[in-house]
Order: sequence, then C-alpha cells, then structure tokens
Amino acid sequence: MRDLALLSATDTPEEIFAAGRTAAGQDIRLACSFSIEDVVIIDLLRKQHDRFSVFAIDTGRLPEETYVVAEALSMKYQLKIDWYFPQRDAVEKLASDKGLFSFQESLSKRKECCAIRKVEPLSRALAGADGWITGMRRSQSVTRNELQPLEIDKVNGGLIKINPLTFWSSDQVWDYARKRQLPINQLYKQGYLSIGCAPCTRPVREGESERSGRWWWENPEHRECGLHRR
Ligand code: SF4
Repeated sequence: MRDLALLSATDTPEEIFAAGRTAAGQDIRLACSFSIEDVVIIDLLRKQHDRFSVFAIDTGRLPEETYVVAEALSMKYQLKIDWYFPQRDAVEKLASDKGLFSFQESLSKRKECCAIRKVEPLSRALAGADGWITGMRRSQSVTRNELQPLEIDKVNGGLIKINPLTFWSSDQVWDYARKRQLPINQLYKQGYLSIGCAPCTRPVREGESERSGRWWWENPEHRECGLHRR
C-alpha cells in the first residue's frame, strides 16, 4: 500500500484517486453535492474508465438549481445517482418542535439540523464502502487549508477519504470545466461560489473567500456541516 503521506502537490487528481483505490479497495463512492468540483471529478474519472459509484444527500432544503444540474449530469454520463434522504421522524420532530429556521438561532441548533439532514444520511450512504471521494480543495477556506489528498476518516469507521482536487485552485477547476463543457450549477452564475442548502448559502461578494457564503452568520472556522469532521 502506498504511504498516504507520500502524495504531494505534483500528483494529479487521477494519481490521487489511483493511490486512494489501492489503499482503500474496490467499493469507492463519490459524495456529490453537484458543485463544480464534483462534476469535474466525475468527468476526470469517467474519462479514464475508473469505477466508482455516486451518491447524493437530499436534505430537503436544496435549491432547485441543484436538482436541475443533477438531472443534467445523470443524463450526460448515464449516471446512476443513489439518493439518500434524512430520517422522516427526525425531520418531522425537528420542524414541529423548533420551526423551519432553528439553524439560524445558534451554532448548536445549526449543527443539530446538519446532523439530522446531512450527517445521519451520510453514515448510511457510506455503510459498507471501502472509501469515499470528496471535492474538497485546500484553497476553499481556512477550515480546509490542511486537507490531505488521502485521509483516514476516523469519524466514518476508518474509511479512506480521497480528495483528488486537494491541490487544485479554483481557476484550474473552472478551466477544466469550461474546456470540457461540463454541466454547471446555475447558482454559480448568480454569484455563488459554494453549493449547499438554500437557506444557508448565499452569493459571495468580490474578494470574499469561496466558502464565505455558507452559514455566513457564523465564524469562518465553524463553517463545516459535519460531513467533513477532521
Ligand atoms: Fe440544515 Fe442549513 Fe445544515 Fe442544510 S446546511 S442541513 S438547512 S443547517
């Protein structure tokens, strides 16, 4: 098995994926939020006939534009997307007891909503997998600047987490997407730089960091949803 720490900024996304597969095993699943990064990874790996499955989590609060690009992606690649939804009882209780916008009241309530709508479905989506792929990049935010291309995901049972775009800049991602004419979430045209739940994501102003539109009312170091606890 290749030493996880040996990967460096000169390794391509395809090489990172190959090292991840060698380290993890055959059952590799891509967590797709329909961000530009996820679309780029699907195209890169499909081009070289790599085998992996794709899943998505429908939190119940996704923007319409995300469903539209999901369908476009599915059709372009004849891609089967495994959709996961939150547990109905938990969402019903959350909404009935605390209202529809409790996540705006405190960090703990925001994390409670993310735990029900995202983290619990993720644990089911990853059950039995050998590894999973994310579209995270170091340059996206302060919470990701120590991201490694391959990580041991201790939160999810020690799976190998593969981050093929760790070293890519935003420009590299967009150059690739334009050259390959990939389906693009229309929210980017409205000034969004990150794709998430509709009430917790907003467009970003000139000069702001890529993830500053996510949970913008919180401190930057808190702006992760719990899917990527490290
Ligand atoms: Fe809830 Fe917002 Fe988290 Fe989505 S991003 S699960 S709406 S708190």
